[in-house]
Amino acid sequence: MEKLTLAQCRTLQEAGIKRILYPNDPEYSERVQSYWSLTSQLTPYCFVQPKNTEEVSMAVKVLVSQTQCKFAIRSGGHSSNAGANNIEEGVTIDLGNKCVFKTIAYADYMCV
Ligand SMILES: Cc1cc2nc3c(=O)[nH]c(=O)nc-3n(C[C@H](O)[C@H](O)[C@H](O)COP(=O)(O)OP(=O)(O)OC[C@H]3O[C@@H](n4cnc5c(N)ncnc54)[C@H](O)[C@@H]3O)c2cc1C
Repeated sequence: MEKLTLAQCRTLQEAGIKRILYPNDPEYSERVQSYWSLTSQLTPYCFVQPKNTEEVSMAVKVLVSQTQCKFAIRSGGHSSNAGANNIEEGVTIDLGNKCVFKTIAYADYMCV
C-alpha cells in the first residue's frame, strides 16, 4: 500500500507540482485537523496544494490520465460529506492553504 500511495503522489510531483504534503509532514496533520467536520477529517495519500489555476488543471489531468486514483477537491472545507472535500485511499487537491484563492468564481490566486 505504501508503494501505491507514493506512486500516485510522485506522479503528480514528477509532473511539476511542487507542494505536496505527505502523511509524515507535520502540515499534513494540520490540514486533516483543519476540517470543520469530523466526517471530513480523512487521511488521503497526500494533499496537493496547487499554487495557481494551471496547477489545478495539471493535477486533475495527471490524476485522470496517468493514474486510477480517486481524488477530492477541497475549497473552504465546510462540506461534511465524507469523500466530497477529502478522501481515503485517494488524493486531495487542497485549494486553501498558503496560496489564497480569493473566490472559486475567480479561481485565481495570491501566492506569497
Ligand atoms: C457552519 C456552516 C454553515 C453553513 N451555512 C450555509 C448557508 O447559510 N447557506 C448555504 O447555502 N450553505 C451553508 N453551508 C454549507 C456550505 O456552504 C457547503 O457545505 C459548501 O459546499 C461549502 O463550500 P466549501 O467552499 O467549504 O467547499 P468544500 O467543502 O471544500 O467542498 C464542497 C464540494 O465542492 C467541491 N468543490 C470544491 N471546490 C471546487 C471547485 N473549485 N470546483 C469544483 N468543485 C469543487 C468539492 O469536491 C466538494 O464536493 C454551511 C456549512 C457550514 C459548515
